Amino acid sequence: MSRDSQRDDPYDVAVIGAGVVGCAIARELARCEVSAVVLERSGDVGNGTSKANTAILHTGFDCVPGSLESSLVSRGYHLLGAYAEATGIAIERTGGILVAWDEEQQAALASLREKAEKNGYNETQILSATEVRDREPNLGEGVRGGLAVPGESIICPWSTVLAYALEAATAGVTFLFNTEVTAVARDGELHVLTTNQGEVRSRWLINAAGLFSSDVDGLCDHDDFKVTPRRGELVVFDKLARDLITSIILPVPTQRTKGVLVAPTVYGNVLLGPTADDVDDPFATATTEEGIARLFAAGAKVVPRLIDEEVTAMYAGLRAATQFQDYQIRAHAGEAYVCVGGIRSTGLTASMAIAEHVAGLLRAEGLERTVRTPAPAIPDMAALGEQQLRRYLDEAAIDRDPEYGQIICHCERVTRGEIRDACAGALGARDLGALRRRTRAMNGRCQGFYCGAQVVALLSELSGRSPAALTGLGS
Ligand SMILES: Cc1cc2nc3c(=O)[nH]c(=O)nc-3n(C[C@H](O)[C@H](O)[C@H](O)COP(=O)(O)OP(=O)(O)OC[C@H]3O[C@@H](n4cnc5c(N)ncnc54)[C@H](O)[C@@H]3O)c2cc1C
Repeated sequence: MSRDSQRDDPYDVAVIGAGVVGCAIARELARCEVSAVVLERSGDVGNGTSKANTAILHTGFDCVPGSLESSLVSRGYHLLGAYAEATGIAIERTGGILVAWDEEQQAALASLREKAEKNGYNETQILSATEVRDREPNLGEGVRGGLAVPGESIICPWSTVLAYALEAATAGVTFLFNTEVTAVARDGELHVLTTNQGEVRSRWLINAAGLFSSDVDGLCDHDDFKVTPRRGELVVFDKLARDLITSIILPVPTQRTKGVLVAPTVYGNVLLGPTADDVDDPFATATTEEGIARLFAAGAKVVPRLIDEEVTAMYAGLRAATQFQDYQIRAHAGEAYVCVGGIRSTGLTASMAIAEHVAGLLRAEGLERTVRTPAPAIPDMAALGEQQLRRYLDEAAIDRDPEYGQIICHCERVTRGEIRDACAGALGARDLGALRRRTRAMNGRCQGFYCGAQVVALLSELSGRSPAALTGLGS
């Protein structure tokens, strides 16, 4: 049993899941005088669906009007946009263009514009084929027109989760990693959570378990929805492809999915994806030959030259799709339990608004909250974006601390000083995945072939874990 979970006093609130949703909720809770704990099965924050998405900050123009998702995405868009500016999370306001490739899609543009307005987004603009081509000269043949969505943006998903968690942890929220909740019981007013690390007690319980949100709902004796993982595979193209597009190139969406897009990333790459395939296994995050072939076929039509570019990586993420079109967020009256499930394709964007909404539900159900003064400090995030002043270029930082001048990962230009910083503190990186998400080290075109040994040695030195434990090689 870990030291923290042995605490005698119950927590006011326990949050199950340290994805972008659970961490946003933890951050929101930390703004008030409540004691909170986040229980996470894996070894890091943002290690589930939140690490493998398309990284778009959506305006919500194509949500289902009147849905909870629509209102939370619209609000979350503004909240997270402002938070990113305040904390240094990389964000680029590239805008997006929804491209019509046939007559039917062209005819749909006007209704998509109306839908955007019903969702409170009034800045779309219908473009002729020539206007689309002027903006995006590398598109394939057959463009019929487009809908410009100037607010669509790209953001760093990894720093977003980490920023929420750091802000929460600094204000006193406890994070328990490698802690899986396996049973939930009641003891009077308290929830008693059985975990593989011992028991945790809390007055309130929030289920932010992502793909497992319906399982956790089941542990709480509810059966309101069922998550079916919907796999999205993506291809990351090399930075040399970045100049092929200036904005996010979107397809005309269907009922089921937003479709395959071509988007820049804040790290200077180009993404192609995602697919949308229902799977049974909530751990099926491997890419498939068939899925990648479908992406290449779609990409060849949209930006033909992209297909000749070098591929840096491929990955897949699983959306927590349910039988419903909307998020499954509800407070169970009298049970001190809030379920935050079914947060499928827009949870990164909506995260701060979801957290605000959940805080409102908790208040309505009787959780008293006194605003913490002073307010928790806003974290200052590492500059991971290509448009930001990266450490290796920051002369003042290098003068202050020469380790910012020592590049370890040459593909992504990550310095020794950044790796050191990423390993520091209670939420410091303890494995290679966590380090990659905090620094970009080993994420470049060589995928760690050249720098891997040095990165592992450094992480081993800083984390106290053996190279064998970090790589899973040898003993
Ligand atoms: C392919 C793809 C593309 C996407 N693109 C975008 C996009 O461009 N923009 C956007 O806004 N959104 C996008 N999304 C959606 C977004 O990524 C998700 O909505 C969001 O990450 C969900 O976060 P979460 O915290 O609910 O889930 P998760 O990140 O999965 O977090 C849930 C956590 O709960 C933990 N957990 C589960 N069960 C237990 C248990 N019993 N005990 C302890 N811990 C537990 C898990 O380990 C996990 O870490 C995309 C998703 C996918 C898959």
